[in-house]
Amino acid sequence: MLTKDRAICIRAIDYSETSQIVTFFTKATGKIDAIAKGSKRPKSPFDGLIEVLSHGNIVFVEPASEKLATLTEFQQQPALINLRNNLSVLYTCLFAAELLNNLTHDHDPHPGLFDSFLEFLHNANQQHPTGNEQRDLLALLILFQLTLLNEIGLQPVLDRCVNCRKSGRVGLAPPHLNQSAPDVPDVYFSNSANGIICRDCEASFPDKIRLSRDVSACLFSFKQIPESSEKTLKEIENVLINHLTQLLGRKPKMAKHILDGV
Ligand SMILES: [Zn+2]
Repeated sequence: MLTKDRAICIRAIDYSETSQIVTFFTKATGKIDAIAKGSKRPKSPFDGLIEVLSHGNIVFVEPASEKLATLTEFQQQPALINLRNNLSVLYTCLFAAELLNNLTHDHDPHPGLFDSFLEFLHNANQQHPTGNEQRDLLALLILFQLTLLNEIGLQPVLDRCVNCRKSGRVGLAPPHLNQSAPDVPDVYFSNSANGIICRDCEASFPDKIRLSRDVSACLFSFKQIPESSEKTLKEIENVLINHLTQLLGRKPKMAKHILDGV
């Protein structure tokens, strides 16, 4: 049966001299692996070699008994992207694609996540209004990672202590309240608990990381993230990379490029 879908390539490996095996994140079907026969030939049937982060409309055949689908059409849209001109943007987008590939299951559709990923790729490749591209890229990446965790049902608990469920006295509050309360208690994040831990509970969570006040304010209210300083965003991204490493059982390959040089 022929299936049509919108798709973004999130992984591509050489299969033979002329063919590739590609992983697409599709809007209606979710993640699929497909063989693209002839994709490396000069007259490729798929508008040229299929590269990671290319996107467009695909048609594929999914045999009942085999794992690999067969790609029959890929009408590539113009690249979103001047990725090759900008390594920071390229690495950030490849990191997001790696997370999507490793945290979603085959044939588990998330149309909202598809739209979020496309929007993330688009925004990452825009001119940055603040003139601080690295900061803006980090803010976009953080928001995408939080969306991804939410979509796959692994969203950390960020508005209260995940252990005792109390929010009022754990120091979590919008930043204007935090600023007027200099004695707000410390707040922590625990990977194993999947969320925020308060001062009263922290002793039971050896893996906890202490959060600065700005970071806990951002995690309490995501609206703060695009306005935050680069230092705060780096701290948040560090917490997220640690958390993702725990979830995946290994550090994502592209993670080393994210906080370096930012
Ligand atoms: Zn607690």
